[in-house]
Amino acid sequence: IKKLPLNHKSKDELYQLSETFNHLMERVETSMQKQRQFISDASHEFKTSLTILEGYTSLIRRWGFEEIDLHKEALTAIHEECIRMKHVTYQLLELADLEHEGQLTMSRFDLAALCKESIHLLQPLSSKEIRFISSEHHLIIEADKMKMKQVILIILDNAMKYGKQLIEVYLTKTDSSISIRIKDDGIGIPPEELPFVFERFYRVDRSRNRQTGGSGLGLSIAKRLVNQHQGTIEIHSELEKGTEVIISYPEMISTANPL
Ligand code: ADP
Repeated sequence: IKKLPLNHKSKDELYQLSETFNHLMERVETSMQKQRQFISDASHEFKTSLTILEGYTSLIRRWGFEEIDLHKEALTAIHEECIRMKHVTYQLLELADLEHEGQLTMSRFDLAALCKESIHLLQPLSSKEIRFISSEHHLIIEADKMKMKQVILIILDNAMKYGKQLIEVYLTKTDSSISIRIKDDGIGIPPEELPFVFERFYRVDRSRNRQTGGSGLGLSIAKRLVNQHQGTIEIHSELEKGTEVIISYPEMISTANPL
C-alpha cells in the first residue's frame, strides 16, 4: 500500500480521533465496571438472604419439631427475610426500569395533598409523630404523581426507621422552585459516609440496617426519580442529632390554572 504523507492538519485530526476513541473506551470500561459491581452487590444481597433462609430451615428440620418456641422463632425469621427479599427484588426491578425507560406520566395534582396522603399512609405504622408544615394550602403542579409520591414515601420511611420521636415535613414554594424537606431527630449519618448514601446498596451500618429492613436502594431510587423531574436531592446530617433531606424541583409549578 502506498504510504500517504501526513500533513500537519491530518496529524491533528488523527490525534483528535484517537483521543476521542480513548475517551469513549474509558467510558465503556467505567460503565462495565459499574455493571459488574452492581451484579456483585445484588448477588451478595441475595446470597446473604439465602444463607439466613437455609440456616433457619435447617434449624427447624433438626430441632423445630421438638421445640415449639424455636420453631416459631425460626418461622418468624424466615417470614421477615422473605418480606425483605420481596422488597429488594421490587426495588431492583424499579431501578432496572428507571434505567431503561424512565418515562414520566405527567398530570396536574395538588402536591400539598400528596404530602398529607403519604403521611397518612405511614403514620399508623409508627408511634413517631409526623408533622406537616406548608407555606401553601394547595400547591398545584404538573409532574408524575406516582413517582413524586414514591420519593416522599422513601424519604419518610427512612426518617421513621432512623428517627427517634419527631419527623417534620416542610413544603415550601419560592418564585422559581418548590422544595420538600423531611427532617428527623434520629441517629444521623457520620460525615465520612454522607457522600455515599445515594449509591446503590450503600448502607451506613450493614448489621444495623439488616435489623431495620434496609436494602441500601431507597435513596438511589429516590435520586433517580427526582433527577428525572430535573430536580435535586441533598442530604444533611449530624450524628445523634438527626438528618434532613431536601428535595427541590425547579420551574414545574403551574398554579395559574386551578385543577
Ligand atoms: P435503606 O433501605 O438501607 O434505608 P437507603 O438507600 O434508603 O437504604 O439509605 C442508605 C443508608 O443511608 C441507610 O442504610 C442508612 O444507613 C442511611 N440513612 C438514610 N436515611 C437516613 C436517616 N434519615 N437517618 C439516618 N441514616 C439514614
